[in-house]
Amino acid sequence: MEEIPVKVAVRIRPLLCKEVLHNHQACVRVIPNTQQIIIGRDRVFTFDFVFGKNSTQDEVYNTCIKPLVLSLIEGYNATVFAYGQTGSGKTYTIGGGHVASVVEGQKGIIPRAIHEIFQNISENPSIDFSIKVSYIEVYKEDLRDLLELETSMKDLHIREDEKGNTVIVGAKECQVESADEVMSLLEMGNAARHTGTTQMNEHSSRSHAIFTISICQVEKNIEAGEDGSWYSHRQIVSKFHFVDLAGSERVTKTGNTGERFKESIQINSGLLALGNVISALGDPRRKSSHIPYRDAKITRLLKDSLGGSAKTVMITCVSPSSSDFDESLNSLKYANRARNIRNKPTLNFSPESDRMDEMEF
Ligand code: ADP
Ligand code: MG
Repeated sequence: MEEIPVKVAVRIRPLLCKEVLHNHQACVRVIPNTQQIIIGRDRVFTFDFVFGKNSTQDEVYNTCIKPLVLSLIEGYNATVFAYGQTGSGKTYTIGGGHVASVVEGQKGIIPRAIHEIFQNISENPSIDFSIKVSYIEVYKEDLRDLLELETSMKDLHIREDEKGNTVIVGAKECQVESADEVMSLLEMGNAARHTGTTQMNEHSSRSHAIFTISICQVEKNIEAGEDGSWYSHRQIVSKFHFVDLAGSERVTKTGNTGERFKESIQINSGLLALGNVISALGDPRRKSSHIPYRDAKITRLLKDSLGGSAKTVMITCVSPSSSDFDESLNSLKYANRARNIRNKPTLNFSPESDRMDEMEF
């Protein structure tokens, strides 16, 4: 089985108006005509893809996501995850904001991928497609179903199916027929994400959101005739996860501990676990085969995407502002480590078709 590395992209957003107003200086930039990024005076990092402040949504999609969508249709699982501190451009890039009100050119990855998938379907009349979407969120290690808010988190469970793929038992999977239908579910889920708490920003910057599109394809092959021919159709089931991770910044909290105020630094435990998984997978001197996927929900959910059988792209978003220097440097180091992860992508024939092959044999 061929091993391919997780592809790592870095996107630097432009300085925001308020940053320009406050005279922030940019401290990160792409070195022209290279795949390198320089931060500060002399720290240089190389990535699979780099996008500077003038990069467009279209460019990001076409360069690093479109190939994944085509692989999805071939039958591979695919994942894109956005990493970076709050305000660095994760939601903008993934396209999980208020999608209905966004102008065409500003649309992020999810709407573009949806469009591409349905375009492909309309061009392939000899294949029966059935598409489902689900949208869940992990907040403080609890799962929430963004498409069915009444579902209690106690009824959502992470399990592994017989092929070792992670599934969320209890999550609503909506069968969809058109791109518009998917977009309205996305919009609905995004709204649930934002109104799920009174502390809106705190919530969305501390939660991981996973939007999943599953495609089941059955080739309509009738020619096998005579004896019923039920085994002649090939069935492929593949999934694309779009993951908007929690903000990677260290959250500084001041709490009263009796006589004096003690400052503690709190990092999202899921991201910490993700960092450990990335380190373990990327360490060439690693002796044991133990990867701590089970330490957090997000790492369990992304197991197949990191070191598994999916094709994965990580997009690290960074703010250019010199006031975010430390966080940006941390994000670049994190991204650099992820480049060492190797996956073994495999085509996903469904269990049914396996069984049919067996019977045929
Ligand atoms: P995050 O999800 O990482 O917290 P957002 O995606 O919400 O960050 O982005 C923060 C702000 O920066 C938003 O106002 C967003 O519109 C803007 N922004 C982010 N990336 C870009 C970009 N590449 N071009 C223009 N504006 C951007
Ligand atoms: Mg966001």
